[in-house]
Amino acid sequence: MIVERTGRNGRRALVVGAGVAGLAAATSLDRAGWDVVVCERADARRTGGYFVRLAPEGLAAAGRLGVAEALRTRLPADGVITGVDARGRTVSRVEASLADDPAALALVRGDLEAALWAARPEHVAVRFATVPRRIDMARNAADVVLDGPDGVTRERFDLVVGADGVRSAVRSMVFGPEERFRREFDHVVVSAVLPRLPGGLREGDYVVPADVGRTAHLMAVEAHAPVVFFTFRAELAGDIERVATDPVGTLRAVYGDFAGLMPEILDGVEEAGATHVDTVAQIRLGSWRRGRVVLVGDAAWCPTLYSGQGSALALVGGESLGTHLAAHPDDPEAGLAAWEGAHRPAALAASSAARRSRHFFLPGNRVVAALRAGALRLATWSPAGKLLHAVASRAAGPGGPGTSPDRRDVHPTATSGSRSPRHPALHRP
Ligand SMILES: Cc1cc2nc3c(=O)[nH]c(=O)nc-3n(C[C@H](O)[C@H](O)[C@H](O)COP(=O)(O)OP(=O)(O)OC[C@H]3O[C@@H](n4cnc5c(N)ncnc54)[C@H](O)[C@@H]3O)c2cc1C
Repeated sequence: MIVERTGRNGRRALVVGAGVAGLAAATSLDRAGWDVVVCERADARRTGGYFVRLAPEGLAAAGRLGVAEALRTRLPADGVITGVDARGRTVSRVEASLADDPAALALVRGDLEAALWAARPEHVAVRFATVPRRIDMARNAADVVLDGPDGVTRERFDLVVGADGVRSAVRSMVFGPEERFRREFDHVVVSAVLPRLPGGLREGDYVVPADVGRTAHLMAVEAHAPVVFFTFRAELAGDIERVATDPVGTLRAVYGDFAGLMPEILDGVEEAGATHVDTVAQIRLGSWRRGRVVLVGDAAWCPTLYSGQGSALALVGGESLGTHLAAHPDDPEAGLAAWEGAHRPAALAASSAARRSRHFFLPGNRVVAALRAGALRLATWSPAGKLLHAVASRAAGPGGPGTSPDRRDVHPTATSGSRSPRHPALHRP
């Protein structure tokens, strides 16, 4: 049986996923007069997560959504990013102000989601522990089988927004199997929130242990437990399936020879557990919409963490969805087409930037590692760093200042995109 309920303006939208893109889309659709239901796979709202650099465009979208005031950067703008080698020796010290746009914010993912959650309009209904099992396209609508704590329902929506992340179920059900759209970088990412600061560090410190094919980024963010993420070449994991089932054992195998802070970091990960485990991959689709189903955020265009743009794109994409639909009140398809046309250039630019900077972020061989180390040593000497930064920013093209060599090391990257999903089973949100 199809449950049909009429929205405030006769239009009903389902948003799948209560992440950054989903919550932003829910608010903007509500503002545009849609009756919004959000379904989220998790039992409750997620907190913490991992470090997220919010690009200025994302902050502007947060402002339009009324949540910018709630966002406070968690790393000092005048801090220093310390590069260390596998033996624990300091090899570079780059001023954070050289390494990133001062207008970007250093957050944890939970900061964004908490702010969006607190500001969500009262009419938005959220169903936790609920997932779509089937989506059937109908004329000017989609029928969705929803599976939640109260059982299974089949409901009609005038719009379905797939904001369910890089492993999107909506995409698989409506657009096709994941392997058609996923471009593996052959890198693994594991993140964790540490139970305490490793010895000798203070709040505000940002340390990057790195070696050929292996890096870690430890951020002693303020007023929050320290966050760390590791990226390493997938081949170093040996059995790739093991990363999901035994992330700590894998990290010990891959980083076990690192000295300095690493043993303490690994103990912390073992104690607290990993918050995110997956391979690094981009999503590329020719179109993000089909009938009344549209994808937004990582589900549509995941540029990878290396772009440093994913959360900003999710915010901008979600926030502008309602605006474009409101501009075409009698023709949602035209609104969706206008939205996609407006948003695609920024998503493509972010994906290109991530591909361009992959070797710098995670050097695959000793030559690239030496070049990277040389650039960072140069940047360590502040006047040279400023010069390098200025030259690289000009050369960065549409990827903008976030892709200059010294900035790339701060967070954004990966390897050439292969078409096949070599690691389909590996995923722990
Ligand atoms: C370690 C790491 C570091 C990163 N660093 C940065 C950074 O510095 N800057 C930056 O801009 N970006 C960064 N990113 C990327 C950024 O986090 C993502 O681009 C952004 O979170 C995408 O948001 P989203 O809402 O599209 O997807 P997600 O955040 O993945 O949210 C998807 C939501 O959908 C839910 N869901 C999934 N499947 C279902 C289902 N079947 N049914 C219902 N709900 C479902 C999930 O539980 C989740 O709540 C990083 C990512 C990682 C992993």
